[in-house]
Amino acid sequence: MQTLDYSNYFNTYPDKEGRYGGYGGTYLPPELVKIMAEIRDAYNTISRSHRFISELRLIRKHYQGRPTPLYHADRLSKKLGSAQIYLKREDLNHTGAHKLNHCMGEGLLARYLGKKKLIAETGAGQHGVALATAAAYFGLECDIHMGEVDIHKQAPNVARMKLLGANVIPVSFGLKTLKEAVDSCFMAYMKDPITQLYCIGSTVGPHPFPVMVRDFQRVVGIEAREQFYDMTGNIPDVVTACVGGGSNAMGIFSGFLADPCEIHGVEPLGKGTKVGEHAATITYGKEGVMHGFNSYMLQDEKGEPAPVYSIASGLDYPSVGPEHAFLKDSGRVQYFTATDREAVEAFFMLSRVEGIIPALESCHALAHAIRLSRTEPMNSRGILVNLSGRGDKDMDFVIELYGYGEDFKL
Ligand SMILES: *Cc1c(COP(=O)(O)O)cnc(C)c1O
Repeated sequence: MQTLDYSNYFNTYPDKEGRYGGYGGTYLPPELVKIMAEIRDAYNTISRSHRFISELRLIRKHYQGRPTPLYHADRLSKKLGSAQIYLKREDLNHTGAHKLNHCMGEGLLARYLGKKKLIAETGAGQHGVALATAAAYFGLECDIHMGEVDIHKQAPNVARMKLLGANVIPVSFGLKTLKEAVDSCFMAYMKDPITQLYCIGSTVGPHPFPVMVRDFQRVVGIEAREQFYDMTGNIPDVVTACVGGGSNAMGIFSGFLADPCEIHGVEPLGKGTKVGEHAATITYGKEGVMHGFNSYMLQDEKGEPAPVYSIASGLDYPSVGPEHAFLKDSGRVQYFTATDREAVEAFFMLSRVEGIIPALESCHALAHAIRLSRTEPMNSRGILVNLSGRGDKDMDFVIELYGYGEDFKL
């Protein structure tokens, strides 16, 4: 295992081909490789310009409401009796999750490039809503490709996207869910890469998307490190976040890579360890290519993406951002899992003890912090949790399945 110099990390990774060690890269038909190279060159130039940076800074402040607070969850910490738990409140970012951080960056880039339309796929609709918000802000058109099955399941988010002025394009082939929505969106993009910009929803996909999305999310880690230091005079002992594609995790982790602290990613273990019961890609996957990049991947015998499941629909993806694969192999980040049940317990506990209803995705990181606090005698260890989103979207579903938490010892 190589020892890396994390003080120079962002200048070293990814390399020019978008590789983090052996992961990442661009695995696409030649027409698309050319388009990606153009986006990469444009991104490299524009995102470093003073004008772009100061414009994005103003948007963060006046429109998104950044910086989001850092909050010491004092009652939760006392109740658990060991670690001090701190929450980075991305649930208070406009639209209620971290996803708007990269969507506003992608929207601003589209405007600099003179594009007319933002396009993307969405599964549960969270990325679709964030991108439709960015499109409305920048006065751009917006096409969101969504499987027909998901359109029926996610009526409130479909309504939100339409209110925001986006076209929701139903995808009616195959299983009519996320994977087909990605295929449909790629096809639409190939037809017209000139007036449209494809906006990926996490640190996944071909280069330059993983680095672009990470860079737009770095604001979370930069703010959190400064806020934590102001509040405690120290840096956290553990920084933790849930990992689906990996964008909220890369956002907060990137602030602490060079620090002497532990960094823990948390993957969804769903209902159990069998194929189809979880989406813990780094924990149970092996190297493989899908959606244009190389990373850890959950595969069936034929090397195709395996079926995945999590109670948190934002986490059920059979691959993971290539940078996470790299950070796992380098040993800088450790990866853990949390089950549906552990996440739901955290959902009830934070709601009741702190008056904060968290997204089920974020609950995986929170469940990990709760477990650490219960099992380790570590008194004043400070654990920083990225609370990636708010849980209003999950409320009805949780109550239907688990009531108001009567079965849990809260
Ligand atoms: C989409 C989503 C996630 C998972 O995506 P990452 O790219 O892994 O961060 C996590 N939390 C919330 C609230 C989400 O909406």
